[in-house]
Parts: sequence; structure tokens; C-alpha cells
Amino acid sequence: MGPILPDKIDTFFTHCHLATMTDNAISVINNGAVAVTDNKISWVGKEKDLAGNIKKDTNIVDCHDGWVLPGFVDSHTHLVWAGSRSNEFEMRLNGASYEEISNTGGGIFSTVKATRAASKEDVYIQGKKRVETLLRQGITTLEIKSGYGLDLGTELKLLEVIEQLNKDSALHIEATFLGAHTLPPEFANNPDGYIDLVTEIMLPEVKAQNIATAVDVFCEKIGFTRNQTKKIFKKAKDLGFNIKLHAEQLSDSNGASLAAELGALSCDHLEYVSQKSAKKMAKHNVIAVLLPGAFYYLKQTQKPPIDLFRNLKIPMAVSTDLNPGSSPVHSMTLIMNMACLLFDMTCEEALLGATINGAKALGLAPSKGSIEMGKDADLVVWDIDRPADLCYLSGLAPIELIMIKGNIAFKI
Ligand SMILES: [Zn+2]
Repeated sequence: MGPILPDKIDTFFTHCHLATMTDNAISVINNGAVAVTDNKISWVGKEKDLAGNIKKDTNIVDCHDGWVLPGFVDSHTHLVWAGSRSNEFEMRLNGASYEEISNTGGGIFSTVKATRAASKEDVYIQGKKRVETLLRQGITTLEIKSGYGLDLGTELKLLEVIEQLNKDSALHIEATFLGAHTLPPEFANNPDGYIDLVTEIMLPEVKAQNIATAVDVFCEKIGFTRNQTKKIFKKAKDLGFNIKLHAEQLSDSNGASLAAELGALSCDHLEYVSQKSAKKMAKHNVIAVLLPGAFYYLKQTQKPPIDLFRNLKIPMAVSTDLNPGSSPVHSMTLIMNMACLLFDMTCEEALLGATINGAKALGLAPSKGSIEMGKDADLVVWDIDRPADLCYLSGLAPIELIMIKGNIAFKI
């Protein structure tokens, strides 16, 4: 016997198999059913336990033997920017060095320049297209960082666009302030001046406008030092923000241990994380967000220490890292495929990384990322034979239906 059916049911998903993503596993229920009441999951179990209990006026979603999974949670993106960097991609393939690309005005500063120059409407229109693309990939919860403004006005413009995208889109969007993404050119000789601007001016203003829930920093040789990161995080915590860190992507700056000590939700990238720092992450329940798209585009060779994370039982999330420079990837199924082939993760780990562990990385596990009673009804019906197909099919997204918070957002 499953749990007792609630009196009021709006929608039943029937003729389906469920991958609930509970108990740290895919957790299959063959011949299952899911009930939705208002915007929440109100019953999960075997279809045979429903016998005779479906009322005539209940909306039925017949899944035709398909699979129902929780919507994907993309826990790390830089989705709002203007301009394009495909010319740089081509230059690199034609043999240009980073210096040559940088000398022609390329690199992250080309995105900063284009984003500063673009109107809020233009940034919104481009962002909306990307959000819709991600939705059609089965992503129902999304994190977006600011970080291509690097001045107060443009950073606020980006966060306002993210807020508007959240209001206008079916999927749920969490905003993260990444003012410390890189040092803007006008502060090239005054890094501490920029840290002061971020901590004393930008952070209080972002808080006053209440348009971000988390604060992120790029802690790296080409980003910010551990001490600079600490200064920003201390202020962010005082103001009540969650914290997340771009840590150990290209070298070991020992940022992950700092983030862990300060209670970060996640450390992201982590190719060069040390055993000592990873142990601190485990101790403080920090999620490891792995970003194989950037690893692939940058042709990195050092993989994140997956075995170490397994041994320490650190939950691993996987995310697109959607951004114009190092990961212009708009597909969670492609990212899961990369996680398997580039990082040697199992299909189960990649699927958990794209669902419940992504939710944990955003502090949203109580309401997102798995099919459980009481959670938001964010459900995707897939035309697949088994859950591993989503890692195997490499970019294909054979979706029949997407429900977000009880409303149908897409249906073929
Ligand atoms: Zn990133």
C-alpha cells in the first residue's frame, strides 16, 4: 500500500515509470503513478494502488509507458550577457594565442563591454531565448549569476533582468550576485579599490533591492585571492546572503576550504581541489558542483577528484555553466554525457547531479530535485526506455511533457 490518497487531486500521471531521485539513488518505481494537488506532489506510488480511486473530473496525463523524472536543476549559469564570442572560438582553432585574442579586444572583457553597452531590454530578450531553450531541455529550476557588468549600474541591470526573467518564465530562477567575477579594466592597478566597491557599495545595494539570494566569487590566479574572497564573503554573510565559490578550476588557491569554513552552499569546478580542502567540504556539508562543459571547451586535462568526493560522500551536482566564453552549452543531457565520459561519473551520479544534488547546491532541496510528497510538482515526462538514456543520448531531449509547480509548461 502506498500513502493514503488526498481528497483533492488535480492531476494524475499514469502509465509511467518513475525515477524519483530519492535516497541518493535513481530509485525506480515501475508502473508507477504521481498525483498533483495545487502546485505540489501529493501522492507517489504504484499505479495498481490507485485502482478505483480516480475521480471523473481529475486531469489524467497518460505517459504511454514513458518515464517521469523531477525537472532538472541547473545550479550554475552565467545566462545573462550581450555579444558573442564565437569569433574567438574560431580564432583559437586557427592557432591564435590567448594574448592575441586579448589584444584584439577578446576574452571576458569583450562580453563586459558588450553587456555594459546593451540596453536592459536587449539583455532581457537574449536571456529569454536562452531560458526558453533550457526549459525545452527539461530544466525547471535555474541559477543565473550576474558578473558581466563589474560596475554597480550594469550589475544591477543584470540582476533586474534575472528578476524579470523569473517573473515571466515558467521555470524557477535563483539569482546570484557575482560582482567579483574578474577585475574590471578600470581597476587594473587597484584591485583593493574594486574589492571595496564590491563590499561597501554593491553588496549593500543588492541587498537593499533584494534581487539576489547568493553571492559568488571567482577565486583564482586570474580572479581574486583567498583574502579578497574572504573579505567579500564576510560582508555577504553579514548581510544574510548564501555564499558559493568558483574554486580551484585552474589551480589550487585553497578557496574551497575557506568557503567551507564560512558555510558555503557549494564550491564549483574543483579540478585542482586538495584532499585537505575536500575533507573540509565534507565536514561542512558543501556540495561539489562539477562543470564538464568548461573542462571540455578549455581542453583542460586535470579532472576533478571524483573518487575522493565519492569516498568523502560529498554530494556532486552537474551543471551547464552556460556562459559565452568557456561553456556555451544549453543542454543538460549533453552535460550529463560529458560528466560520464570526461569525469568518469556513473549515469546515476550524473542524474542525481542534475536533479537533487543541483537542488542542494541552491539550498532548494526541501522543495525541488526529487519526486516526493510535499515537493513542488516539477515533473518531466520522457520518451525513453530507461533513465540512463538521458546520459547516453548526448544532447537529445525527447520530452513529452513538462510540468512546473503544477502547471503544464510544455506538451507535444
Ligand atoms: Zn561559472
